[in-house]
Amino acid sequence: MKYLIIGGSAAGMQAAEELRKKDKKSEITLISKEKDYPYSRCLLSRYVDKRMSINNFYFKTDHFFKDKNIKAVLGKEVIEIKRQEKKVICDDLKEFSYDKLLIATGSTPWMPDIDGINLAGVYTFHSLDDAKKIKESIKNARKAVVLGAGFIGLEAAYALSKNNIDVTVIEKGSQLLPKQIDLSASKIIQADLEELKIKIIFDESLSSINGEGRIDSVTLMNNSLMQCDMLIIAIGVRPNVFLAKKAGLETDRGIIVDEFFRTSDKDIYAAGDVIEINDIATGKRDLSATWFNAVLHGKYAAGNMAGYRKRYTGAVGIQNAVQFHRIPVISFGKTLLEGDDEYKDYEVITILKGNVYKKLIIKANRIVGMIFVNDINKSGFYAALIRNSVDISMYKDRILDSDFSYAYFKDNNFGEYNTYFKTDECWERPDWWAHRLHCQMG
Ligand SMILES: Cc1cc2nc3c(=O)[nH]c(=O)nc-3n(C[C@H](O)[C@H](O)[C@H](O)COP(=O)(O)OP(=O)(O)OC[C@H]3O[C@@H](n4cnc5c(N)ncnc54)[C@H](O)[C@@H]3O)c2cc1C
Repeated sequence: MKYLIIGGSAAGMQAAEELRKKDKKSEITLISKEKDYPYSRCLLSRYVDKRMSINNFYFKTDHFFKDKNIKAVLGKEVIEIKRQEKKVICDDLKEFSYDKLLIATGSTPWMPDIDGINLAGVYTFHSLDDAKKIKESIKNARKAVVLGAGFIGLEAAYALSKNNIDVTVIEKGSQLLPKQIDLSASKIIQADLEELKIKIIFDESLSSINGEGRIDSVTLMNNSLMQCDMLIIAIGVRPNVFLAKKAGLETDRGIIVDEFFRTSDKDIYAAGDVIEINDIATGKRDLSATWFNAVLHGKYAAGNMAGYRKRYTGAVGIQNAVQFHRIPVISFGKTLLEGDDEYKDYEVITILKGNVYKKLIIKANRIVGMIFVNDINKSGFYAALIRNSVDISMYKDRILDSDFSYAYFKDNNFGEYNTYFKTDECWERPDWWAHRLHCQMG
């Protein structure tokens, strides 16, 4: 069997490792466009703000590939998948054949169509290459603008401010982290960031980026001019579906996969930021953009590629734990209600005391989402209530009390099981020992 993986980050690397665990002999090849060894994107801001050195970034190096007998082809881009011939073609026209293929190509920052977008000093914040360029640019910069107040934009703003750069964040919506939290939580984080002298402008965007060869200012939609030495574009990402689309696989915003991570071609799987999958919290098919999810996808996809049929249910796309400055925030599941219809169907329980904020969103007596700000104790417990769809009707009046805990749910065994899937019946049999090699692992 020949396994081929496109993309060597969270999903691709986890898949490679899992494939080798499940299959000691087959050929495994991983192709990545990036020339660096696999590194954690989540830590990029720590490199820019100097909390971490570059050597601590790589989570797998040469040893791993040698030790596991996995062939790593770095710095090569796959430009086409030829499904009939079961092979892929790279940018240098080199070809690699496969029996089972995994597409783990992740996502790319969204670039707005604005005059001056190609000027020097305009960056995205997505790869180690980006982080290196930003770090170099900081040496001669005093003022920076960050476009977008999502997670990546705020990470960049924090890292720049730690380098004594005067930072202004421009957000077209009216709050921070518009996909993850609500306005009350946003106000608390805004105050926290403003302590660092980060300025935030809401309900605004850019009409042009100005400069001769290099950026020297931006013009806002309200025609005001803002001097700056650098601009970070952080207005979202889009899944890299190009290869899948060209190969005729079923795609929407992401690659469509079933609960075994199989695409519309039975020998091609996909995992990570590039896919769309059903979300138990929202009940809709959605993209997910977290490291944790990408790793899980990679693990499950690999298990299925190697023939261990393992169903993945219970995906939750939004699950963020962040702390830019002093205030930690956790958001999980459905955190925002949209439109009057949703307000009719859901109940909301909140506590706001100073800069501690807790919010639960409930539907049909089940918690489907939460936001915890500045007191994130027991957030894992509430996440377990969401994942296991536990009926909380008896406890609504005390659900956010400080002593509310697992003790109220003695009969629910959540916590004892991996909450991502039901335990295989095989393990429940009295003779499980004899069958253990064929039972599905957790
Ligand atoms: C700055 C930053 C901070 C983040 N912080 C967090 C965090 O704190 N917590 C969290 O949960 N998530 C965080 N994320 C999100 C997280 O990093 C992503 O969800 C995760 O990396 C997705 O993994 P992936 O393997 O699906 O794709 P990616 O990490 O995007 O990797 C895809 C890889 O495939 C390669 N590739 C693409 N096309 C091709 C091709 N045609 N040929 C060959 N190779 C190709 C790409 O170059 C890339 O190396 C952060 C992201 C960024 C950018």
